[in-house]
Amino acid sequence: MKRDVHLVLLLLAIIGLSLVSLTTWKVGTSRERALQEADTHGLNIAQTLTTYSEGVVRQTSLLLLDLVERLETEGSEPITIKRMNALIEQQQPLMPQLSGITIYDRQGQWLLSSNQAIPAGADSSGQAFFIHHYSDPSRETFIGSPIRSHSNKEWVITISRRFNDTHGAFAGVVAVTLGVENFLKLFGKIDLGRDGAIGLSSTDGTLLVRYPFREEDMGRNFLHSPIYERYLVDQSAGTASFISSLDGVERLYAFRKSDEQPLITTVALGKREALTAWRMEAMLSFVVVGSLMVITAIICCLLIRHIHRRIKVEAELRITQQQLVSSNRQLELLAMKDALTGLANRRCFDETLAIETRRSRREGVSLALLMIDIDHFKLFNDSLGHIAGDACLRLVSRLLEECVRRPQDLVARYGGEEMGIIMPNTDRAGATVVAKMILNRLFKENIFHPSSPFARVTVSIGIAVADGGLIQSQQLVEAADAALYEAKAGGRNQFQ
Ligand code: GH3
Ligand code: MG
Ligand code: MG
Repeated sequence: MKRDVHLVLLLLAIIGLSLVSLTTWKVGTSRERALQEADTHGLNIAQTLTTYSEGVVRQTSLLLLDLVERLETEGSEPITIKRMNALIEQQQPLMPQLSGITIYDRQGQWLLSSNQAIPAGADSSGQAFFIHHYSDPSRETFIGSPIRSHSNKEWVITISRRFNDTHGAFAGVVAVTLGVENFLKLFGKIDLGRDGAIGLSSTDGTLLVRYPFREEDMGRNFLHSPIYERYLVDQSAGTASFISSLDGVERLYAFRKSDEQPLITTVALGKREALTAWRMEAMLSFVVVGSLMVITAIICCLLIRHIHRRIKVEAELRITQQQLVSSNRQLELLAMKDALTGLANRRCFDETLAIETRRSRREGVSLALLMIDIDHFKLFNDSLGHIAGDACLRLVSRLLEECVRRPQDLVARYGGEEMGIIMPNTDRAGATVVAKMILNRLFKENIFHPSSPFARVTVSIGIAVADGGLIQSQQLVEAADAALYEAKAGGRNQFQ
């Protein structure tokens, strides 16, 4: 029973442990999967936007190359510039991202501006891109930090190239400006959630465009951000997760470095947002598992209570059973014993005598019966009282038991002050020996009887013996009774 309780508890522990570990494992793997999906999503967008930006820069570079080639072969005389202006006016509508083209001479003076009249005394020799080309003989395309446009004060990215004179010396710069607005429009169409962000920067760490747009981010340098310092060192694409230095939001970053242009696209998703669906699923899982656990625990509790109740009932039942068995045994003894003298009672006497007469008939062996009656017992009671009478009855009974020693002999109280002794396998001689012994012992016992002619308690004994003949128990009792009557009549304190 106690083991049953332990088994139930073990079962509960096993179920609980498996449920919790399975759910934790499932929730853990589904979180990993959600993060992986977000990374893949981010990488795909970064790849697409890189391709777009590459295209824009490539187109711009081609235009620059064409203009530089013309300026280097045809020179930058006003007549050439005028012809170029006409050409640019035709080309510009074909490139909607392009907000303007400007040509500077070697002092930074404006030679041509596609979208505005050249401002008087305009000097760009201090601009970063001009200083770069002036001091760097490289003829590569240069992507500069975003600046505010001269014409409409909007943010633009400058992509520029230097051109040389016929002697190979610095002769000026051609710069194309791309409106940041165009990039923002495209980036804005991509749904990245509330905390999502897209950034386009150059490989030197300068942020060119960021969506959502924030004035204070323009031109910031990210060379010391984790993406540049840790990941872009040996990877051209990848994912990372960290807290943004711009707004303190934890994001999942997917970055892609262009293979052909000095550009890096970064797509960021809010980590909390990316895990929203997973969080719901995890919560639901834990609620379901929690409820299951509670239900299982309740069932186990009920089961344990039931087992405990059964243990109690069974213990009570066992005690009752034991009590019943001992009561039965006592009852059995009581049913066969005489309460006053402790001898076998009348019922036991009748049953034993019936059994023994049957056996005597069957086996042809002798059976002796002694009927013993206390003499003048009424007078004993009358003179000494019933209590003394009872004590005398008990004394005589003990004495009778002492005179009969064979285990198969039975001494019984036949009724009142009359006792019977059944002695199987005993003949007349044997019975006579016992009867004599009883008379002698009692006489010697000398129990005072004031009204007896012997002045002591005596008995009369009637003996009947069946010598293996066809006799019934009733006949044997009658014969013994008759003999007893003779003993009484013969003066008592004798046997017949
Ligand atoms: P007799 O010598 O002829 O046998 O005379 P008696 O007085 O013994 O015979 P009787 O049958 O007239 O009386 C028997 C008496 O035994 C009557 C009764 O008061 C007494 N007696 C019977 N059973 C008990 C008992 O259990 N206790 C006591 N104290 N007396 C008993
Ligand atoms: Mg009597
Ligand atoms: Mg008597």
